[in-house]
Amino acid sequence: MSGGGAGHGGGPLVIRGARTAAGEQVEIAVLDGVIAEVGASVSTPAGAREVAGEGMLALPGGVDPHVHFNAPGARSHWEGWQTGSAAAAAGGVTTVVEMPLNASPPTVDLAGFQAKAVVADSRVDFGLWGGVVPGNRAELHTLARAGVIGFKAFMSASGAEDFPASDELTLYEAMGTIAELGLPLLLHAESDRITAQLAARAAAAGRTSVRDYIESRPPAAESEAIASALELAAITGCPLHIVHVSTARGIQLVAAARARGHDVSCEVTAHHLLLTDDDAAELGAAAKCAPPLRSAAEVAQLWQLVSQDETLFVVSDHSPAPPELKLGDDFFAIWGGISGLQSTIELMVSESLSGRRVDAVQLPRLLAAAAADRFRLAGKGALAPGMDADLTLIETGTERLLSRDELLDRHRFSPYVGCTLSARVHATYLRGDLIYHDGQLVGPPRGQLLRPGQ
Ligand SMILES: [Zn+2]
Repeated sequence: MSGGGAGHGGGPLVIRGARTAAGEQVEIAVLDGVIAEVGASVSTPAGAREVAGEGMLALPGGVDPHVHFNAPGARSHWEGWQTGSAAAAAGGVTTVVEMPLNASPPTVDLAGFQAKAVVADSRVDFGLWGGVVPGNRAELHTLARAGVIGFKAFMSASGAEDFPASDELTLYEAMGTIAELGLPLLLHAESDRITAQLAARAAAAGRTSVRDYIESRPPAAESEAIASALELAAITGCPLHIVHVSTARGIQLVAAARARGHDVSCEVTAHHLLLTDDDAAELGAAAKCAPPLRSAAEVAQLWQLVSQDETLFVVSDHSPAPPELKLGDDFFAIWGGISGLQSTIELMVSESLSGRRVDAVQLPRLLAAAAADRFRLAGKGALAPGMDADLTLIETGTERLLSRDELLDRHRFSPYVGCTLSARVHATYLRGDLIYHDGQLVGPPRGQLLRPGQ
């Protein structure tokens, strides 16, 4: 036994003295990369290294099914797998599922899937979303066989010219095919007819501010698109997941369809929970996203639903761009996307410690379990015997301001810099291997490609 160290790669491991999100002291025994036992007192596997977890919160490694790493291809310098997955490891996230756009080629056929799988030198386990675009329906079976976790489509412009939005007929036909495959379709649901016309109206009047941008993407643009998508999912039987829902009404539409027996779900981003439209006006480009940040009243409702609806989970939608695309006075022209992967867990734990809007007991579900269940990521998302030994130990005794220097994503352009955090990821384990410890990445990239389980 090595006593007190963090327990480096391989080999059996026992973590003692940490507490769970429910506040219980636990010991966790790890053997062959899998959690062997969790409980008040566990038997120590032969030769196990001991890790002192006193004072720390033990959470299942985060499962973030919504990240953009932008590689391979022309936008690789927007993020990349090494920097993106380093941010994940440092933030306690051990599984990501990466979006099909922004890489070139995009993941809309087998060649796109293989090109990405080859360059994905990831420090955390990862799955890949396939893309639905007009004209690629014949590729969906092939992508499913290759191992995509599901598919992603846009109802409004994605911003990437090689990943066009899907019209209603494209969606309807793709849903029919995806229903046969038994995989989920993820949708960016905002009405292009509403947002594009409002944007054109603003441009014609010379209105280009943050507020003008937010007004061009009103809550109605989201809920109208969600309602239409739910109708197509009901008709086709396609499992549907709405990404980054920004309004209570959107979540309630999905919940009502689920109550009618449809296989539908949605997610909320950390930024739609933690930031408001007023913050966007102050932060500028770092807080540009679509759907946009909402009013404080809307955000308060989102927090309530996040605690009540057991199917909801929180994602980062980590979506970086080079700083030069984040400049200028025309807020419509600035590239959208928020980079928050490394901070999501620390922010959510801090929020729970403040005791105001979310209870710590909800965190394992919100940050890991619900997404792993929804997307059939076998062995992921829970601190329980038989699961992969993916976990993070978090210090909670001290406060600090988030500093740009801590960030490991490529451009370190985060709206959360300067936020007060009362949680700090101390160590992250992937399948029993230490991959991050006390401010340092540990070992080479060991992430494995995940395929949907049964
Ligand atoms: Zn996204």
